[in-house]
Amino acid sequence: MRFGELAEVYAALEATSKRLEKRDIVAELLRRTPSELLDRIPLLVMGRVFPTYSGKKLEYGEKLFLKAASSVSGFTVESLERRIRDLGDIGLAVEACVLEKPQTSLLTFAGGGGERTLTVTEVHDALCRLAQKSGTDSQSHKAKVIIDLLSNATALEARFLTRLVLEQMRVGVGEGVMRDAIALAYEVEPAVIERAHALVNDYGRVAVAARDGGQEALDAIKLAPGTPLKCMLAQKVPTVEEGLTGAGGTAAFEYKYDGIRLQVHRDGDTITLFTRRLENVTRQFPEIVGAVRDAVRAERYIIEGELVAVDETGMPLPFQELSRRVRRKYDIERMARAIPVILNLFDVLLVGERTLVELPLRERRQELEGIVDESGRVLLSRTLVTADADAAREFYEEALSQGHEGAMIKNLDAPYQAGSRVGYMYKLKPTLETLDVVVVGAEWGEGRRASWFGSLVLAVRDGDGFALVGRMGTGLTDEQFAHITEELRPLMVQESGREVTFTPRIVVEVAYEELQQSPTYSSGYALRFPRLVRFREDLGPDDADDVDRLRRIYTIQKARG
Ligand code: AMP
Repeated sequence: MRFGELAEVYAALEATSKRLEKRDIVAELLRRTPSELLDRIPLLVMGRVFPTYSGKKLEYGEKLFLKAASSVSGFTVESLERRIRDLGDIGLAVEACVLEKPQTSLLTFAGGGGERTLTVTEVHDALCRLAQKSGTDSQSHKAKVIIDLLSNATALEARFLTRLVLEQMRVGVGEGVMRDAIALAYEVEPAVIERAHALVNDYGRVAVAARDGGQEALDAIKLAPGTPLKCMLAQKVPTVEEGLTGAGGTAAFEYKYDGIRLQVHRDGDTITLFTRRLENVTRQFPEIVGAVRDAVRAERYIIEGELVAVDETGMPLPFQELSRRVRRKYDIERMARAIPVILNLFDVLLVGERTLVELPLRERRQELEGIVDESGRVLLSRTLVTADADAAREFYEEALSQGHEGAMIKNLDAPYQAGSRVGYMYKLKPTLETLDVVVVGAEWGEGRRASWFGSLVLAVRDGDGFALVGRMGTGLTDEQFAHITEELRPLMVQESGREVTFTPRIVVEVAYEELQQSPTYSSGYALRFPRLVRFREDLGPDDADDVDRLRRIYTIQKARG
């Protein structure tokens, strides 16, 4: 297939904003795609070369691309940039340069036909080479690949090559349109396509199966370690009772850990870690790879859990700490020591040759418990099976008091429905609006934290003064404690024993589980389990929330039941 044919399809897709028309255009393209190319066309139409989970990215910078385009077209980088500003799109800018090329460059830059006709296969192969090249001379190799493609491209092809390389296709074909197009092209129900896609996350594979064997072949698509499936998603519930009812009366309550969801895949010696967004993060967490190898007694499996950063006492650290590790590309070992992580496992989807997604949760949980030997780093999620709302509420509060985000409530009879939010799993967490409060006091920390302020006394505005509303002692990282100590120290006005008071100046935004009436604090209210959301350096004490707002929130909370 000529790349020009694909470029025309991109142009047609760009020309309509109607979803059904897009679907029809894509379905028609799929039908006329030669068999050997069908595994690659769906992703290309969506503007991608690799499935997300492959971990491969083109990551070709716009600046470098413009240099290559400039050397091919004879236009300066500056004039290309001017066109981008005028036309609002780099693809259109490169296309315009092809059409108006000022001079014949050494390499014939084709306004309508270069030295050879580009094929889709050739472009795809070239882009794969782009993703592979690394090392000292990689930049010049990559530039050569781009120059070679551009110098043989027509104007229209240049527009879409540019967008493909820079991963800015934007012709409006997402997963939904692709699902419907494959369904239409091969006369299969969209739901069947969706299910198969949730298991393999590659529309190329799905399209090939649909063409070769229709529904039967799609149903036969199996999970395999190394290829991540989409996660089952949770619905929000406002109360324990609604969660219980939704999950069928008796439910598994689990701690809701605040970290990142991790799929752990093992196939013999190879262990791979994927995030919920199917990114491969194996390199970032070598100690987890080692720990699951030891803790999970099987050679082939897919299990799921939540990865959480913890301090040395095992208390969870805020998610931001963990995200530093996810982004880290070098010095991994040092980072692993600085921010220890643990994995709380909660599901199993495949063991050996058995796919378990169709089994009810209660059986999957048993399977999971049967293969995991808990260790310091690999644990099973804390869980309570109950039909009793009081017991469930107590469990939920225990989760919050230990610094977790809330609770998950799961239907014990439900299968694992990859990629959907179907009411098999609920999440319950504090949902009240955050408050901006002033730090008016603190208690010196203890032990390792003796030089920092520990529990912080929080207040809201009350007339011309301030009224206390609670204390916050958890949910801050060491860095945050150190930072706030530095900010607060100059504001100290009184010290008695470990208690300190401050001039009210520092404002923090806090989340909390509930607002209670309280005789202890001068505002008449107390925040239950307040947690730091962020420092509000942009706010002064006059901008903090006041007692009236507490009253309003309390009323709303009561009305909600
Ligand atoms: P949310 O991100 O607020 O939609 O909540 C759902 C997320 O909670 C999941 O994607 C998991 O990453 C996370 N989570 C934490 N603990 C659990 C657990 N015990 N079971 C399932 N998901 C959990």
